[in-house]
Amino acid sequence: TDNERQPCLDRVYDSIPSLRNLFKIIRKVGEGTFSKVYLAELLEVPNNFFALKHLVPTSSPKRVENELRCLHELRGQNNIIDVKACIRHEDNIALVMPYIPHEKFQDYVYKMSATDTRNYMRNLFIALKHVHSHSIIHRDIKPSNFLLSSDTGKYFLLDFGLAQNAPQMPTDVVHNENKCPQKATDCTSLHGADQICNLCIAKREQKAPREGTPGFRPPEVLLRYPHQTTAIDIWSAGVVLLSILSAHYPFFKAEDDMTALAQIMSITGSKEMAATAKSLGKRISNNPEIPPLDLKTVCTKLRRNRSNVLTSSSTSNVNSDEFSTYNPTTTNEIMFPDSAYDLAKRCIDLDPASRITAAEALKHPFLSTDSH
Ligand code: ADP
Ligand code: MG
Repeated sequence: TDNERQPCLDRVYDSIPSLRNLFKIIRKVGEGTFSKVYLAELLEVPNNFFALKHLVPTSSPKRVENELRCLHELRGQNNIIDVKACIRHEDNIALVMPYIPHEKFQDYVYKMSATDTRNYMRNLFIALKHVHSHSIIHRDIKPSNFLLSSDTGKYFLLDFGLAQNAPQMPTDVVHNENKCPQKATDCTSLHGADQICNLCIAKREQKAPREGTPGFRPPEVLLRYPHQTTAIDIWSAGVVLLSILSAHYPFFKAEDDMTALAQIMSITGSKEMAATAKSLGKRISNNPEIPPLDLKTVCTKLRRNRSNVLTSSSTSNVNSDEFSTYNPTTTNEIMFPDSAYDLAKRCIDLDPASRITAAEALKHPFLSTDSH
C-alpha cells in the first residue's frame, strides 16, 4: 500500500496503534514545532476526510492540556475549527478535525480584492471576538492558522497550541507610592479607568510570555510587558491586514525582538514608540527621530514594487497557466477604500489599551458595510 512506501506515515500508526483500525493516513499536510498534521480518510466511510494533528510526544503535558481545553471550550462555532475526537496512546495524542482543503495564503494574498479582504478580516474578527469573549488569547494569529476552505468558502481558526487565559485585571493593585517612581496621577491616567499602576504590576509579575511568531508580535510582547491581554491577537490581525494591503507577505521579517521593534518603529514613528514603551514601564530611545508614516502611502508603494517584482520574474516563470493568477497588473490595480487603512492603523495601535477590540473592529466602516 501507499503507507508502506511512506515510513513517516507508518510511524504515526506505530505511535497510536488504534489509528490503524480507524483511518487511512494519506499524506502529511502541515508541520509545526509541536505537531505534524495529516490528511486521513475514515476507513468505515470512504471519501470522508479528516485532519489528524499528531502532537509531538515531547510537548509538555501542560501545553497539550491547554490546547485541548481551549479547543473544547471554543470549537465548532464562530469560525473556530471543530474537534471530532482526541485519541491518545501513552504520550502520543492525535486530534481529529474536519479536513479543510485550502490554498496557501502566500498563493492568494496578491490577488485579494477589497471584498475578499473584507470577508477575510471580518471572519477573522468573528473568530477573535468569540475567543476573546472567553478570556482566551490565541497568541499565534497568522495566515497559516486561519484557513479559507476552497470547498465551502468558510473560514477556520485553528492551532490553539500557544493559547493562554487572559489574566484577569488585578483590581486590588493600584499605585504603589513606595515602589513606583511615577506620580499616582501619571500612573492611573495611563490606562484610563483601569486604575492600575503599570510599574507595580511589572514588579508583581516577573514573567512575560513572548511566544508567537516573529513578525506578528506586538510591541508589548517584544518589550516583555508582563500584563498581556487579548489585544495582542488584534495586533497580529492588523499585521495580516497590512500584508494584504501591501501585497507583501510576510509584512515584517525580523530575526530578533530588537529588529522587530525597529521595523515597527519605522512605520509608527520613534517618538510614538518611546511614549508607548514609557507607558508600559520600559525605556526605548532612537536617534535620529523617525516620523510616523501614512499606511496608505506605504502599502501603495509596496504593492507597486510587488508588481514590478512579479513582472520581472514572470518572464522566467511563464510555464503554467497558474501563473496568470499573479497577474502583476491585477496586483497593481486592486484598490482599497481608505477605511481599510484606517482599520489597519487601529489594529497596530502601539498602545494595547487603546487598540481596537474584535467587537469594535466588526463595527468598523471597512467591515460593517458591504459596498465600497
Ligand atoms: P502547529 O501547531 O504545528 O502550527 P497547526 O494546527 O497550525 O499546527 O497545523 C499546521 C498546518 O497544518 C496548518 O498551517 C495547515 O496548513 C494544516 N492543517 C491543520 N489543521 C488542518 C485542517 N483541519 N485541515 C487542513 N489542514 C490543516
Ligand atoms: Mg500553526
